[in-house]
Amino acid sequence: MAKDKNKCEKYELAITDYILGEEMDITREELLNHLATCDNCQKDLTNWRETYAAMRNKAYMEKPETKKKYQEMLERIKSSSCEKVPGKDVNINTKIGAPAGVIWRYLATNGWINVDELPKKTNLNKEIVHEAIGWLGKEGKILMTEEKQTTYVCLADHERKNAQMQE
Ligand SMILES: [Zn+2]
Repeated sequence: MAKDKNKCEKYELAITDYILGEEMDITREELLNHLATCDNCQKDLTNWRETYAAMRNKAYMEKPETKKKYQEMLERIKSSSCEKVPGKDVNINTKIGAPAGVIWRYLATNGWINVDELPKKTNLNKEIVHEAIGWLGKEGKILMTEEKQTTYVCLADHERKNAQMQE
């Protein structure tokens, strides 16, 4: 049982990120695969989802127990992100910016592509590709669609124009 709890640790923060629509440290697929096999995390997800729904409902927000739950959720999110500093500082521009640039240039000369094919096409590892895609998405540089659990990306039109001007 203790071992199971360990296994779930990395999904706990991911679940709150997922609910809040934030970027996750793991891929959506990883989380969904885990959820499919883990009752505890499923319950966790349901709890957070209810809490979040309650947060958005003003009537619920007046209730003391909701306030308490909301406070606990914020505390938990804050403490999880503070705990994540065991390594050395990462230069975002080097770690994400450079691979994002490689992907950006690849997308500039291609149409919609399955995200899972990008590691092979760009010689970047899968994790880096996912981080870079998340970053490009947040910056509004790419479009994303999903079909049958496959994610497709495409360079946004205004970025494509930039790419053509650079040629
Ligand atoms: Zn779990």
